Amino acid sequence: MKKIMAVNCGSSSLKFKLFEMPEEQVICSGIVERIGHDDGIFQLKYKDKKDKVIVPVKDHGVAVKIVLDALLKEHIIESYDEIKATGHRVVQGGPYFSKSELFNEDTYNKIESLIPLAPLHNAAHLTGYRAFKEVLPTTPHIAVFDTAFHQTMEEEDYAYAIPKEYTEKYLIRRYGAHGTSHKYLSEVGINKYLDGKKDSKIIVCHLGSGASITAVKDGKCVATSMGLTPCGGIMMNSRTGDIDPSVYYQVLKMSGKTNEEVFQEFNKASGLYGVSGVSNDSRDVDAAALKGEHDSILAMNLWGRRVADFIGQYFVRLGGCDLLIFSAGIGENAPEYRELVFTRISEALGIKIDEELNKKTFGGKEAVLSLEDSKIKVVVIPTDEEVMIARDAYEIGCK
Ligand code: ADP
Repeated sequence: MKKIMAVNCGSSSLKFKLFEMPEEQVICSGIVERIGHDDGIFQLKYKDKKDKVIVPVKDHGVAVKIVLDALLKEHIIESYDEIKATGHRVVQGGPYFSKSELFNEDTYNKIESLIPLAPLHNAAHLTGYRAFKEVLPTTPHIAVFDTAFHQTMEEEDYAYAIPKEYTEKYLIRRYGAHGTSHKYLSEVGINKYLDGKKDSKIIVCHLGSGASITAVKDGKCVATSMGLTPCGGIMMNSRTGDIDPSVYYQVLKMSGKTNEEVFQEFNKASGLYGVSGVSNDSRDVDAAALKGEHDSILAMNLWGRRVADFIGQYFVRLGGCDLLIFSAGIGENAPEYRELVFTRISEALGIKIDEELNKKTFGGKEAVLSLEDSKIKVVVIPTDEEVMIARDAYEIGCK
């Protein structure tokens, strides 16, 4: 039994989960938020206890110390070296990583070189890694990439129809995201719902605040909806998803705003939020739609339409579909949003849903929503990105 840390470092937050491996038991989890502030927030969930304290958190180094010292104080560990490996989530691995890798100098330099493609994320992951490395210098650190699972895509699935020069010189192409989740969900799908079937065709819908859909053939990703950055693909809580580039050009020209301002708006003030004008939380938009507000109803219908479009596209890409998986914040918890999709795909794809069961499936429940005579099996599976990070950290760091 070994203790393995799974870490997700953002620019101002550090989320972690400590696992007992290979049992895959979660020992504790927590988050440090507002890194860089005097009133940072540290929360630790251990056994039945949930502690929350406000503490100054100058930087990521301080955040790491706070976390590890809390583990000592609670006797979750008796010394730092009980942590046998640390897995770090990395959003952008570019064309360099098709699997998790030991965090060595070469890995570090490649992640650093990709900062222009994911400025907020990759820079924060490196800061987080440095902070952990300083406190745990002899523990193996492993980088687990959101993009790795999508590296099996073929050129015609990932290339953009832009001048070749940009593709080659600036590494502009579709990389996708949420790969760790798509991998986890498709593995569970194959093993649990398709009896380990060899030639499987799965469409995975990771529908959270950020959302993406993936076509998985024989366990390998062949297409994914997110693009160069997480702004691409389906419409999301606050992101546009795919749009005509002229929309961007025109808004820029007519609003007089800067490039950066418009880009931020397309990422943070668009999607369900932008269309409804209500909120970037899908629950608020649903509540407004139930009151009959036109813009919220439109926002939800647009969302359902875009998700349905991608499912249709991937049905063709795969040449059929054995299993359709819903997961993440909305996919797991929002029957009304799933229904927006079902009503738009069921006739064409011969899907039959147990509507009562759909209504009752939320809050971390796993369920088969389709009826026996449905042409495609439809399931809800709660995702678990952290266990995948812990698995790879354990495999690479401890064996
Ligand atoms: P991310 O990791 O991208 O932040 P999540 O997968 O955690 O996204 O999903 C968060 C979103 O899921 C929320 O913004 C909200 O729209 C939706 N959501 C979360 N919990 C619920 C719930 N209980 N009921 C309905 N929707 C929910």
